[in-house]
Amino acid sequence: MKKRALFPGSFDPITNGHVDIINRALPLFDEVLIAIGKNADKKYMFDLEQRLDFMKEVFGGNKKIKIVTYTGLTVDFCKLNQIDFILRGLRNPADFEFEKAIAQTNRKLANIETIFLLTSADTSFISSSIVRDIIRNGGNANDFIPFNL
Ligand code: ADP
Repeated sequence: MKKRALFPGSFDPITNGHVDIINRALPLFDEVLIAIGKNADKKYMFDLEQRLDFMKEVFGGNKKIKIVTYTGLTVDFCKLNQIDFILRGLRNPADFEFEKAIAQTNRKLANIETIFLLTSADTSFISSSIVRDIIRNGGNANDFIPFNL
C-alpha cells in the first residue's frame, strides 16, 4: 500500500511556512496531496483559481505531489481517495490546541491519523493572515511567500 498524506489548508496564500512543511514531508510519504479547501462560509483574499495557480507555480513539476481542491469534510475526501494520513504543521501552543481537537475528532470519525511536523525556526512566525495584512496595506510580502505578486 502506498503511503499517502493529505495536506489540507486554505493556502490564502501559500507561504514559505507551508513550503517548508511540504518539502520536509516528501521523504516521509510516497505521495503528498495538497488539498486546497473551498469553504462557502470563508471569505478569501485569493479565490480558488488563484490559490491553485500559486500552488501549481511552486509544486506543479513535482512527481510526488498532487494538487487538488475540495469541499466538505477532510476525512470524507481522505476516505474517497484512500488516503490514510493527514499532514499539518504546528507553530505554537494555539496551533496545538486547535489541531488537537480536530485530529482527535478526525480519528474518531474515520480512524485517520494526523501527522504533525514542527515548523522550522526560520519560518515559524509566518502566517497567511499576516501576509494578507501586508498585501492589503501595500507592503512587500515577497520574503514570506514562494511566488512573486
Ligand atoms: P487552515 O485554514 O486549514 O488552517 P492554512 O493555510 O492557514 O489553512 O494552514 C494549513 C496548514 O499549514 C496548517 O496545518 C498550519 O498549521 C500550517 N502552517 C501554516 N503556516 C505555517 C508555518 N509558518 N509553519 C508551519 N506550519 C504552518
